Formats: sequence, structure tokens, C-alpha cells
Amino acid sequence: MNGRDRVARAAALLQEARYAIALTGAGMSTPSGIPDFRSPETGLWEKADPMEVASIQAFQRRPNAFYGWIRPLVKTLVTAQSNAGHLALAQLESGGWLKAVITQNIDNLHQQAGSREVVELHGHLREATCIDCYRVLPTRDLLADFLASGEVPRCPACNGVIKPNVVLFGEQLPVEALNSAMDHIRRADLMLVAGSSLEVVPASHLPLRVNERAGHLIVVNLTPTYIDDVADVVIHADVAEVLPRVARACARRAAHSGAPSRTGRQRGRLDAPGAAD
Ligand SMILES: [Zn+2]
Repeated sequence: MNGRDRVARAAALLQEARYAIALTGAGMSTPSGIPDFRSPETGLWEKADPMEVASIQAFQRRPNAFYGWIRPLVKTLVTAQSNAGHLALAQLESGGWLKAVITQNIDNLHQQAGSREVVELHGHLREATCIDCYRVLPTRDLLADFLASGEVPRCPACNGVIKPNVVLFGEQLPVEALNSAMDHIRRADLMLVAGSSLEVVPASHLPLRVNERAGHLIVVNLTPTYIDDVADVVIHADVAEVLPRVARACARRAAHSGAPSRTGRQRGRLDAPGAAD
């Protein structure tokens, strides 16, 4: 299949699916200028090994070192804008072709682009928790103060150190997010993996759960992944370039079939022979 055929095939599979979900990773946000801090090329490794400085143990031992390391990343995160790939996933959701996005990213860019059902496996920066009194605080003002002063944010109630609600190395995934992800995965008959090299467990195992129940897999990622061999469609390219083409192809196919979108269509029509063209 050439590139155009692969895009068309991906769009057809999305339209035929009863419950399609996406799994996104760092590659989703690199077109928005957010570095993949697990990747050695980003420069964030040059100053410190994230495994060392961004682990929960290191955070508890030396919060200043953690905050010093994460400050440039936070600065990038608070100003980053969603890209065409994020927008395409939001369009697929509003068109009824995508039910949810499960993401490993903490950058809020799916929500910024308009995605409504977003499961954040690695947490987010909108809130933080005091490690002494467990008070949960919105981070909007705290982050601005931190970026201006560079000082470790502290709890207004007890002066304890505040930890952003993101998953650090060595921490469990948030139970609520994990349960929600598994709920979507149990229902899914298609997973679109976008911008993830599937190297970070346990998220990297999730496509197999869909695959083992004969669900379809679509991969859009710059580099190969371990599921490429079993995926129905594999496109090694930038998500910001490919996903808008997939979303447009879905819209075109829907217009052709006379239905505005997947929403409200009859199951029988979708299962009709020839629908996979
Ligand atoms: Zn406190």
C-alpha cells in the first residue's frame, strides 16, 4: 500500500469500528515543541538523567533538584499550543468515529484542541498535591509563581512541598485513569496508536489487549513499534501531517455515503460488504 492507500484504509477502519479509541504518546506533542524527555536527543538528559531526578524517591529526597530540572519543561508546557494532529483527533471524536483518547502526555493539549473524553495515564499539571497534608491545589497561580521565582512551590496551609499530579518514575499510575482506560479498552474494537513508540509500560501493553480480542490496530508514528507486524495499518510519519488526512478522509467517506458521520448510523449499514473499500 502506498501512503494514500494507507490513509484511506485507516479512515475505512475507523468508520467501520463500533468503538475506536486512540492511544497517544510524546510524538503527539513534539510537533507542538514539547520535547520527549525520555529521549536522549532532547537535551533534558544532558543535565540530568530523568530516571534519577524525576523519580518519586529523588523528588522526596531533593525537591529542589526536581524543580530545577523540570522548570524549562514547565515553561514550554504552559505556552504550548495543540497541533494539527490534536485537532484531527478532536474532529474524529466530534464526528463520532473516535470514542476516547488515552494519553501518556501531561500537556493538556488534547483538551485544548477540543477532545472531550481524555484519559491521562500519567496525570496532568492542572493540580498538585501537598506531600505532607495531601491537600489538592489548582496549579494555575502556583506554576506562574514557580516559573517567575524558581522556588519550590509550597502548601499555603502547612508549608509542605507540593508535588504536581503527574506520575514520576517509580510511581503507580493513577487508579482512576487506569480503570477508565481499561473500561474503554474492554469496549474497543479498534485502537489508533498515534505518536507513541510504545516503549513505556504499562501503556505500551494496551494495544495488545485490543489485538487479542481481534480488534484492529492502526499505528501512526515516526519510528517503528513492536506492534507494527500485527497492526492493520502502519504509517511511519508525523502525526501532525497524517492525522488531518485521516480525519478528512473520514469526513469525505461520510459525505459520500450520505451520512454526516458515524453518529446515529445503523450498524447494519456499516457492516455491509464493500464498506472497507
Ligand atoms: Zn500541606
